[in-house]
Amino acid sequence: MSNVTVCVRFRPLSSKEKRDLGDNICIQSMDSETFIIKDEKEEGFTFSFDKVFYEESKQADVYEFLVLPIVRDTVNSINGTIITYGQTGAGKTYSMEGPNILESDERKKGILPRVVDGLFARIKTSADSTKYTVKLSMVEIYMEKVRDLFDLSKDNIQIKESKTQGIVLSGATEVIYFLQKLLFPLGLTYTEMNMASSRSHCVYMFTLNQESISEKRVKSGKLILVDLAGSEKVEKTGAEGRVLEEAKTINKSLSALGNVINALTCGSPAKANHIPYRDSKLTRMLQDALGGNSRTALLCCCSPSPSNASESLSTLRFGARAKHI
Ligand code: ADP
Ligand code: MG
Repeated sequence: MSNVTVCVRFRPLSSKEKRDLGDNICIQSMDSETFIIKDEKEEGFTFSFDKVFYEESKQADVYEFLVLPIVRDTVNSINGTIITYGQTGAGKTYSMEGPNILESDERKKGILPRVVDGLFARIKTSADSTKYTVKLSMVEIYMEKVRDLFDLSKDNIQIKESKTQGIVLSGATEVIYFLQKLLFPLGLTYTEMNMASSRSHCVYMFTLNQESISEKRVKSGKLILVDLAGSEKVEKTGAEGRVLEEAKTINKSLSALGNVINALTCGSPAKANHIPYRDSKLTRMLQDALGGNSRTALLCCCSPSPSNASESLSTLRFGARAKHI
């Protein structure tokens, strides 16, 4: 990985948080990169990231800083990954998609619809001698099984590696677009399926092919958006059966993701040979979008409420670990 950008986004207080603790927040902003967060014992911890988006931040701010540079690179055939991380309710899906996938208010549109617009805008301004194809697959990883969100009957998609295309989702539906018509079928699928599960990872895989008509060659770039399962710890007591199994599986894949990012950002050649992609379906799926000549952006989503301080701290530590080492 040549590059990992780590940002934090604090959502506004929810009405429940306000009811419980009024306007209290546990963070104190220093500047656009640094803040202090207090835990339950009022102990303060200082964190710095590439950028911190506070509650008044706009969807467009997040897109322009974190996502747009990666969209530009996709057009230049550099693979990219954009990941939202955090506890359930922290704002991952809001940031990734928006309040609603068919959101008509431009200002509220999340990363996904903006990526679609961004890709097509780049394509429109490019030379006529190039033919572009954008493909999109959309899957969910639940309990280490990959399910096609365009065709729910395909509930055990295999992740394979092809010499020419790198990591592929074998047999997953690929919606192909030549024109700016991406969101309509996406919206249709959305209303038909009951996803938005906080217990699964949702992965949007874009492949952009550029065929140069004169030079007879095809360039390809992959852009993967990942709305992760909630990172919260389950209560040690109480959780049992399926809930406990889900939590363990999520935990395992999130640590695998952390380990892969660490191994990649670590920079030591000895470690570079030993990237543990195969430790989870998630890391395996992201292999060629994280490794090699690629760019990664991690958006750590947090609540600003003191009632969620310990989960926020754990999210921030994950982000800090991804950045340094
Ligand atoms: P997650 O996907 O992390 O579980 P959501 O994105 O569903 O969390 O957000 C939880 C709630 O908070 C939703 O009602 C969402 O609309 C709201 N929310 C999250 N982030 C923001 C934000 N930046 N501005 C306004 N509302 C937000
Ligand atoms: Mg969500």
